[in-house]
Amino acid sequence: MRDKVLLTHKFVELIPRELEANTIYVSVAYATAIHKCCCGCGNRVVTPISPADWKLIFDGRSISLDPSIGNWSFPCRSHYWIRNNRVVWSDQWSDEEIDAGRKKDARATAAHFNRKNAGKAEGSSSAKAKKVNNNGLKSKIKKWFGVKTLD
Ligand SMILES: [Zn+2]
Repeated sequence: MRDKVLLTHKFVELIPRELEANTIYVSVAYATAIHKCCCGCGNRVVTPISPADWKLIFDGRSISLDPSIGNWSFPCRSHYWIRNNRVVWSDQWSDEEIDAGRKKDARATAAHFNRKNAGKAEGSSSAKAKKVNNNGLKSKIKKWFGVKTLD
């Protein structure tokens, strides 16, 4: 069993360059949350908030992220949920399970964008512009931090 980890959350407009440990930074403007891997390895974990990525729940006191966070690209390969500012550790996944999870994610993302495209066909140019803009921001954030994200 791992140690119990309690997180603090901070709502920020811009993500600070130096992240404090056990702190989850949430930028509503960028629809992104970022924290240092809860195992203590110090890697930055970026969780974009969107219907195809993570869902952020703020109950007025604490934060939850859904689904779980699997840091397969880090050496620690830690896997946990963030529930009400608590880290709930999961078992490490086998390679097969990681693979299955990735395929499931890919399907969810494809379904999401298919739905978006269907909406676009109905001819909302503002929705289209917004989508392009969002993607631009996302990649900007990724480049900015030089972070390998989970997708
Ligand atoms: Zn770690």
